[in-house]
Amino acid sequence: MYKLIIFGPPGVGKGTQAELLSQKMNLFHFSTGNYLRDLTLRDTELGKKVKNILDRGELVPDDVMNEIISDALRNNIKDKGFILDGYPRTVNQAIALDDILKSLNLQDIIIIYLNVNDEEILKRLLLRGRSDDSEEIIKKRLIIYKETTSKVLDYYKENGKKIIEINGIGEINEINENIISEIMKNIKF
Ligand code: AMP
Repeated sequence: MYKLIIFGPPGVGKGTQAELLSQKMNLFHFSTGNYLRDLTLRDTELGKKVKNILDRGELVPDDVMNEIISDALRNNIKDKGFILDGYPRTVNQAIALDDILKSLNLQDIIIIYLNVNDEEILKRLLLRGRSDDSEEIIKKRLIIYKETTSKVLDYYKENGKKIIEINGIGEINEINENIISEIMKNIKF
């Protein structure tokens, strides 16, 4: 079973690569960003709260995210496995995820760390033109990545998790093939 987490700064291409991997490998792909953007379209208390946070480029509280992921994994696990995209984004989320996966007997995750330089990220995010992609909000999201989210990688390193580092610059399919070949080298069934 493939238990994958795609990790990296905003704008690195996590969503695109996760979508391709999930199609090719028949995985359950869960994008927290897509899920949250969907929530903002609803006229509910939670939808409004989440919209406010996303518009400011900030992070949704850990307890809300942990519950969302716990439900998603419990209800949607496919035989072939899953790929999480956009979670965990804080060390507290990573710790919560460890517990969730343990309770579902789904240990031995592989972290796919997609990386590109800051200049390229800024360029890509400005081109993407999503509503949370104004220059000011992009900069805020990059600062949050550096100060908070990047610590998740240190946490996984300290805990001896398998991390595959992939260069995110290049042609989409070529990057995807690189990811798949690295997964195949590292997978434990
Ligand atoms: P993304 O599409 O992954 O870039 O996510 C878009 C926005 O959703 C982020 O800027 C955050 O505001 C929020 N978000 C997504 N995933 C998380 C998470 N794991 N924890 C907190 N906030 C999140």
